[in-house]
Amino acid sequence: MGIFDKFIDFTKQINAVENHLYSGKKDFLEIYERNVLLEKEIEERTNELNEANRRMLTLQHIWEMMNSSKPLSSILDSTVNNLQKELGYKYSCILQRKIDENGEHYSLMATSSYSLFETINEKLESPINTQHLLFNNSEIVKTALKNQQIIQSTDLRLGLLTLVPDIKEEYLEEILSMTHCRSFILVPLSKLDRFGFVIVLSERAEATEAELDFLKLFAQQIELAITIADLFQVVREQAITDPLTTLYNRRYFEEALDKEFVRSNRQKQPFSIIGIDLDHLKQINDKFGHVYGDLAIKQISTILKQNARSIDVAARIGGEEFNVLLPGVDSHGAMIAAERIRKAIETSPIETVGDITASLGVATFLEHSNNVEELLELTDQAMYHSKRNGRNQVTMATPISEISWQEVALTAFKDILSTAHVNIPEHLKKELYHKLQMAIEQNTNPKDTLYTVADALVTSYNPQHTFGSSKSKVVMATTLARRFELGKEDADKLRVAMLLYDVGNLMLPQEILQKNGPLTPEERAYIENHPKIAAQEILEPLSNVKEIIPIIEKHHENWDGSGYPNKLSGSDIPLSSQIILILDAYFALIEPRIYRKALTPYEALEVIKQDANKKWNSTLVNEFVKLVEIELRKAE
Ligand code: GH3
Ligand code: MG
Repeated sequence: MGIFDKFIDFTKQINAVENHLYSGKKDFLEIYERNVLLEKEIEERTNELNEANRRMLTLQHIWEMMNSSKPLSSILDSTVNNLQKELGYKYSCILQRKIDENGEHYSLMATSSYSLFETINEKLESPINTQHLLFNNSEIVKTALKNQQIIQSTDLRLGLLTLVPDIKEEYLEEILSMTHCRSFILVPLSKLDRFGFVIVLSERAEATEAELDFLKLFAQQIELAITIADLFQVVREQAITDPLTTLYNRRYFEEALDKEFVRSNRQKQPFSIIGIDLDHLKQINDKFGHVYGDLAIKQISTILKQNARSIDVAARIGGEEFNVLLPGVDSHGAMIAAERIRKAIETSPIETVGDITASLGVATFLEHSNNVEELLELTDQAMYHSKRNGRNQVTMATPISEISWQEVALTAFKDILSTAHVNIPEHLKKELYHKLQMAIEQNTNPKDTLYTVADALVTSYNPQHTFGSSKSKVVMATTLARRFELGKEDADKLRVAMLLYDVGNLMLPQEILQKNGPLTPEERAYIENHPKIAAQEILEPLSNVKEIIPIIEKHHENWDGSGYPNKLSGSDIPLSSQIILILDAYFALIEPRIYRKALTPYEALEVIKQDANKKWNSTLVNEFVKLVEIELRKAE
């Protein structure tokens, strides 16, 4: 190759290298440019991802809350707060749609912490009622709900006017500038019957597609929260077990009892109920804390489960009360089962607390009563008998027909003295309680104790009371009951009512009872309420005197309808109540009062005769007068 050729070749090579270098440079530039673009894209994508991630976390957070046992309102509150924070809105809230007698309206269900309403209210004379918002004329609301479509609007002015139509122009401008917002978004919720929509206020004039998609997702989450809350409610209502003990609950027990009643009644077979009440749970709670109280409750439930046959129904009826239903078991078998339970409780100490005990009562269908309610009542009474008798024992129910009226009255007095908040000096309470306890233990004729206690109680609020009149009243009531052919059961109820009808006075303030002069209308009203007070506050909690409450409640009703508390008249008033009224009046008249002397028995009878057919019916007055006159003649 000549020198020229070599040169040409060399130039070619240089060109080739130059070309190569040039294309490399071009490549490099292209790559560089592409990299810049890519970096930008990566940054955008990362931002999007971060945004998506944040939204995912928000949704996850809401989801976790929905799975917690928090109430719906608190879930929705956190939800709107999350929405506001995570997506940087100025404000967000949920409005519930309601229809009632006032027509359709919306009420604020959840609101984020920055309260738009507070800000607006500061500018208004009468604040917005957030429970009764009207959007009837709003086109935006109508469209959003009708088309189930998210709507964004920059017309904040219109939005605010929809909310408060009569706001002053200056305030309108002020509020709008205060909110620093450029648009609002309405997100409809499909559960229209219950829920309206979510509203957010945004600083951005326009929401991105992604943002709107997220709001849709968000609305679905809220709907899901509502659905879950509804489901929880259904599950709660359908539950048959008690969460603490996993024993059956009261509702299930009552259903099982009703079914057992139908079955046993058809086959004339017995079944029994054992009632169990933990002793001194309050002391356990106070001394060791509620956790140990709960432990004691669980211990009893474990024992009940261990001792129950597969067909028995062991249930937790209330806090510390349990019932066991024993199908096909008579009272003898039930007493053995109950004793086994009692023994097991007594011999199963629990950590820290030590020994626990329970009081039990047993009642059997067909043996003690043919009626389910009565049976439950008798189980309860038997259980309370165990309590009164020193706890940690089993008592069999007494058939209703065999319970003497004296027993009922003794127990009632004991319960009144030990539980009701009555105005009696402590030493007297103790003394009377002791007397009653002795009478129960000695099991002899307790009538004298009953009369003594009754007289002592009356004297505590009426110092003019004559000792001995409690007895006279019961004796005369018994005679009248016989004259009017009341059955044994009614006569017994009358006797108990005769001893208890005025116990309401034990709750009246001393100032009123001892007042020397006419009563004010308020005082009068107070006194007129006392049959009710007696019945409701003192007697209602006593399980064994429930049946006499109606008699006592009506013992100030007059024959002509002028009495109290319900202005009953004629045959709407039980005869027993009329007997109490007439005896009460007679014995009050023959006792002195601060403002008058005692009347003689004959004078008292004259007063009573004047009210024949007014306060009491005339037949009763005739019988009563005859009765008293006979007694008086005997005494002469
Ligand atoms: P008694 O022997 O007369 O039954 O006395 P007691 O203290 O058990 O009965 P009382 O009726 O005076 O008080 C019952 C207490 O039981 C009051 C209440 O705080 C408590 N209690 C009720 N339910 C629960 C519960 O689920 N857990 C706990 N720890 N205590 C309960
Ligand atoms: Mg208890």
